[in-house]
Amino acid sequence: MICTKCKQYFKEGMLQCPVCWARKSHEIYVEFQKQFLPPILAGKAKITRVRTLGNQWHIALIGDRNHGWCGIEFKPRLGEASFDPERLDVVCPDCRKTFEDLVQEAEGAA
Ligand SMILES: [Zn+2]
Ligand SMILES: [Zn+2]
Repeated sequence: MICTKCKQYFKEGMLQCPVCWARKSHEIYVEFQKQFLPPILAGKAKITRVRTLGNQWHIALIGDRNHGWCGIEFKPRLGEASFDPERLDVVCPDCRKTFEDLVQEAEGAA
């Protein structure tokens, strides 16, 4: 079957295209992070950053520690440290953008 949305091929009998499924679940997870933003920004919530290949760090999603805010799966998982929201420069550009967008959205809603 060919996905009508992203045009990727996927196996007959699967409920949904796995690419779209992964993207959708990532969006839901990012949305889920919103409620944790105030304690994160206040430095009260513990949040992790994870290092993958190429010495690249990503912010780990709360509730799904195997994925980053940019959507990457931590395979392999080469290291872990605590994430400091003041140090967005150390994580990948996509993680940073997702984080900044969420902060902006939260501020806009307040
Ligand atoms: Zn698709
Ligand atoms: Zn990332």
